[in-house]
Amino acid sequence: MEKQGFRKNLINIEPYVAGEQPKTADIIKLNANENAYPPSPGVQKAISAFDAEKLRLYPDFSSEPLKSKLAEYYGLKPSQVFVGNGSDDVLAAAFRAFFNSDRPILYPDVTYSFYPVWCDILKIPYKTLPLKEDFTMNVNDYTQPNGGIIFPNPNAPTSIALDKSEIKKLLDANRDVIVVIDETYIDFGGESCIDLLPEYENLVITRTFSKSRSLAGMRLGFAMASEELISYMNAVKDSYNSYPVDAVAIAAGCAAVDDDKYFKDTIAKIVSTRDRLTKALEDMGFTVAKSSANFLFASHNKYTAKEIFSYLRDKGIFVRFFDKPRIDNFLRITVGTDEQTDKMISAIKELVV
Ligand SMILES: *Cc1c(COP(=O)(O)O)cnc(C)c1O
Repeated sequence: MEKQGFRKNLINIEPYVAGEQPKTADIIKLNANENAYPPSPGVQKAISAFDAEKLRLYPDFSSEPLKSKLAEYYGLKPSQVFVGNGSDDVLAAAFRAFFNSDRPILYPDVTYSFYPVWCDILKIPYKTLPLKEDFTMNVNDYTQPNGGIIFPNPNAPTSIALDKSEIKKLLDANRDVIVVIDETYIDFGGESCIDLLPEYENLVITRTFSKSRSLAGMRLGFAMASEELISYMNAVKDSYNSYPVDAVAIAAGCAAVDDDKYFKDTIAKIVSTRDRLTKALEDMGFTVAKSSANFLFASHNKYTAKEIFSYLRDKGIFVRFFDKPRIDNFLRITVGTDEQTDKMISAIKELVV
């Protein structure tokens, strides 16, 4: 029904729907790509040692020393790093700072469903470009006039990484707009484009502590780009919230970056479980995309994704099902611990074999 009076001016948006966060303790939660393992023990120590007296003061508005720590880790200057409350916050700042053209921004039809939400709320025109049949990106589509480009690498929910040579082609064809690469899952596979930053002044890379560093509940994300582009993101941030990251999060984030061995060991465990789960699912009649992330994108040759989703849900195993065109017969399954994985494999076996 047509809205009347003051209701005509209320915002008209479809908000992002996150994976369920069930409250019961004994469920197996593989629906939000959270890390299967806890953060580094150093994070617990940093939080325990945090002196609450410090909370009397505002946090460091520039998020030092986390910026310096990240800059050192990735071989950049601190002025090339932007820090925010999760990469969702970082991406929102990037959309505001960089996508101000009348031309549409481009991104794949199957991708992170937060992008259309920001475009709608910020009134940014956009155009989605279909992934190929095999859910890979065709970079030749990205040569048309546009107001900017964003895509995740590896992509979500497909889990598929795009070759760096292809990314370079896309960048070469788009030197006059900002290209944002959302590297949320890059620590689990694929090749980072950080080393392309000096060559492409228009490139912005976003990252998060939520997935590979097990800190989804802390809300920490960051962007890396030229000093010039980061200064625009800071200008946006300082226009609506000059103190984005709280003091506890800064301490926890620093501790997570400090423990590189734990970080790499955790990733290695997840990658090994991922490869084992892929094989097990294939043996049970699933087609599984080649994953470079901490989740799998799979469809079964006999049971629909919805059937398997509901069946597993009844057994207390939560995976993600998207009731959306092209992907409504696929499940997105987060790679859990070995124990969780074994339980899920047994449950699926009971259904399909
Ligand atoms: C999880 C996710 C994010 C956001 O993560 P934050 O928790 O906000 O840091 C961004 N992009 C993609 C593709 C994701 O899957």
